Parts: sequence; structure tokens; C-alpha cells
Amino acid sequence: MITFLIDGHQGFCVMSNFYGVLEKVFMANADKPSLFLADGMWSYSDLVDTVNGLASVLQQQGIKKGDRLVVQVEKSAENLALYLASLRMGAVYVPLNTAYTDRELDYFIEDSEPTLFVGKDSRSDVVSLTLDEHGKGSLMDSIDDASVVPDVVDLDDSDLASILYTSGTTGRSKGAMLTHGNLHSNAVALTDCWGWRKDDVLLHALPIFHVHGLFIASHCALLNGTPMIFLPKFEVHEVFERLPDCTVLMGVPTFYTRLLSLPALTPDYVDHVRLFISGSAPLTEVTFREWKEKTGVEILERYGMSETIINTSNPLDGERVAGTVGFPLPGLNLRISDSEGKELPRGEIGTIEVSGPAVMKGYWRMPEKTKEEMRQDGYFITGDLGVQDGEGRVSIVGRGKDLVISGGFNVYPKEIESVIDELPGVQECAVIGVPHADFGEAVVAVVVPDKDDLSLEDVKSEIAGSLAKFKQPKAVVNVAELPRNTMGKVQKNILREKYSDLMD
Ligand code: AMP
Repeated sequence: MITFLIDGHQGFCVMSNFYGVLEKVFMANADKPSLFLADGMWSYSDLVDTVNGLASVLQQQGIKKGDRLVVQVEKSAENLALYLASLRMGAVYVPLNTAYTDRELDYFIEDSEPTLFVGKDSRSDVVSLTLDEHGKGSLMDSIDDASVVPDVVDLDDSDLASILYTSGTTGRSKGAMLTHGNLHSNAVALTDCWGWRKDDVLLHALPIFHVHGLFIASHCALLNGTPMIFLPKFEVHEVFERLPDCTVLMGVPTFYTRLLSLPALTPDYVDHVRLFISGSAPLTEVTFREWKEKTGVEILERYGMSETIINTSNPLDGERVAGTVGFPLPGLNLRISDSEGKELPRGEIGTIEVSGPAVMKGYWRMPEKTKEEMRQDGYFITGDLGVQDGEGRVSIVGRGKDLVISGGFNVYPKEIESVIDELPGVQECAVIGVPHADFGEAVVAVVVPDKDDLSLEDVKSEIAGSLAKFKQPKAVVNVAELPRNTMGKVQKNILREKYSDLMD
């Protein structure tokens, strides 16, 4: 049984399909706007109609409870409706970054074994349809208003709702299995934590193939029957133009650094935006400070991840401290631990571990990986290094893993290294992230050439077809050899330090 909010009233729910809960909210707000789009507006009843239509088409395609639905399409209202239709049908929604190349897609299809792939191009290894491309086997074209709408599929809280792949790498990418209970409980906790109001309007410019845009941002609006200004992507001038129409903006730090570059940003211009929320990557203290200076408002930074949705948040009321990610969400247990999982005293740096209702069920078809990262007592080892102050406020001091976060997207160096290592003229390489004013971090390839130095253009022209653009290096450095420790491991910390001002 989970608590939920409908029309501001807290209640109890025995329904376990999260869509069943959302549908009640949608029906209670049927005439109200759900999505403001470039070409018009959808009311909540329009959203329900499209979800129902898509659910009928999915049923005709043979989609049943537990079947995977891999979706790689551009963000749109129909895309959001497809996600909701998947929940309704009890299917497992697997969203993928549209930047992934066909080669990268092969892995996700093979690993998740979908019943249906929804994308731009059809594939030979799986039944494929487009979402809304006319004349190309489109789900939207197949909606027949006369069809019987399938019932909301009855489920347990522990049934899978989605698999989020944590990166796009062959062999290494892990699929975080999120349940209906995970999604529902986190949406309720965020509603509470961020004091969602009936008159809130969310400016949504995040992608919806990632935990931030799909679950964190959308669910706050949907669970409360409030509207979203639904932009296809972040374009700084467009977001700026829509700021006066919203009360909440959720973004990655890059949103804020880009908006800060606009001289017309003033306290008056944003005076009714009650919340600027940032996450997915560290917000620098400089950005926090500059934002406050320019707008008079403090950005609320929070910390989350695909495997656990949201872990901590700075307070709605009370002090928001730059460089910290705030307090554990209500209902979430957080500890800072040593390598054995033993809790460390407050003030000591260690690994952040969390347990609670939003922590994933495990990694899809990777029981060994799940065992490695999940303690016996239910705590998930986040891999992030952090520290808690006396009050319990959390700061992230680094990442245990060598993850690079560029423009809010995760980049796993190993994947890029294995592609660059294959290039002619390359002996070996190490990929690191270095500070970048706009992207947060930039991917840099430190290369040991065979003979002649390699330029950035040399590397880019070779890898263009293999790696999504956001994973491609922004700089290439040639070196005679890579620093290594006695165990033969490349010392990336030394490289990071050495090239820390490369992108200045
Ligand atoms: P993802 O699964 O793509 O959401 O990436 C999760 C990772 O992003 C976390 O494990 C953190 O390393 C990082 N992250 C998310 N939010 C923050 C934040 N506010 N500050 C620093 N790192 C963050």
C-alpha cells in the first residue's frame, strides 16, 4: 500500500499499476491542460485518449505484461503517451537515447529482447514500428477509435515498469530494473519534498529517455494533474522565452550556465518562478552564486541516479547550500560507508549507499553485478563518494567510478577507449573528463600515438559512425606514455589534474 496525492489530498492506494493511479488524477483533471506544445495544447483528456489508443495498438501487436518495448524516438507528446500506454499494459518500457548509433542499438536489442521496437528505422532482428511517421508502419496511424481499450493491467508493486540502461556501451551497459512501486513512491516523495502545487507549471526541456526527464520531472506534473510546457529539447532562447510562463524549471547545470549568458535574465523576469531545480551532474558553486546574484533565487540542487531515481534534495524551505546535494528524501535511508559497507562517522568521506522504496530491483539479467552492488541488508552501493555534515546534509566529493558527465549525459571512458584503441596509428589511450564551463565536463582522449601525433579531427572522423556525438572527445592530447601505478593501472587522477585547465 502506497500513499499518494490526488487533488492535494493524501490517501492510500491498493492499486499497484502506477498508471492506474495516474489515470485517476488525469480523469479528475480531464479539462485542464496537460501539455503545452509548439503547435497547441493537450488537455488531460487528450492525453488519456492517446494513451488508450496506443494501448489498444500495443495489445494488437501482442504486447503482454512483462514484454519489453524498446523505444528510440524524438521527444514529443505522443512519445510521453507511449510511455504511459506501456505502463498501462504492464509492459517494460526501455527508452534509448536518440543519439545512439545502429551499432550501439544492437547491444540493447540483444540484451533486452524486446517484443517490439519503436524507432525511426525498422530493424531485421525485431518487429519494428515507427511512432508517428506516416506511411512507415506508425503506431499513431494504427489508432482506431472504434477499438476496445484494454483494461489497466493488474500488477504488483514489484512488477517491472522500465529498464533504464546506465550507458550505451557494448557488453558493459547495465539495465536498471525499476518497478511500478519504485516510480510511484518516488513521485509521491518528490511531490511532498518540493511542495508541488495545483497551480504549478513545469518547464520541461529535458530528454525523456533518461531518469531525469522521464520520471523525475514528468511524474511531478502528472501525479498532480498540472501542466508541462513540453519543449522538444533545450534551446537556450526558447527556454528563456518560456520562463515567465512557468513556476518550476528542472534542468541539468548546463541549462543554468547557458541561461546565465543572457543579459536579459533579471529578477523581475523570473519573479514568479518558485523553483529552479538542478541535478544529474554537479552544480558548481560559481553557477549557484551567479544565479542568485542575477535572479535573486537560489537553485535547489538534488542528487539522483537511474538505479534509485532521487536520493537527496536541498530543502524547499530552509538553507540551500552551494556544493551540497541536501538531505535524504523522506523514506530513503542513506549511509556513508567504508568498502565493507560499515557506516562511517559523520564528517568522514566514504561511499554513498542507499536503501528505500525507490531503489531498483537489480540489473537486468546481471545477477552477479546486482550482487556486487547491492548489500545483503538491501543497501545499494551508488559508487559516488560523499560526506555528511552534522545535520545530515550530503556533499558529493567525487565519483568512485571514472564516469564522465558531459552536458548531463554519462560517458563511460572504457567504451571510448576501446574504440580509439582500434584506430590506425594509436598505441593506447586513456579517456578522462576535465572541467568545461558549458558542459560541466568535456571528454578528453589522452593518446599514445604509434608514430605521428593525432589531431582531434583525425580521431573524430574515424569514430563518427561508432559513437554518439556526446561521447566523442572534445580534445585529443598526444603523450609518449600513460602514467601507471605498480599494478599497471593507468593513473587517471594524474591525467585529470594535469589537463584540468585544458578547456579553459
Ligand atoms: P544517471 O544514472 O545518468 O542519472 O547518473 C547518475 C550519476 O550522476 C550519479 O551516480 C552521480 O555520480 C551523478 N549525479 C547526479 N546528480 C548529481 C549532483 N547533483 N551532483 C553530483 N553528481 C550528481
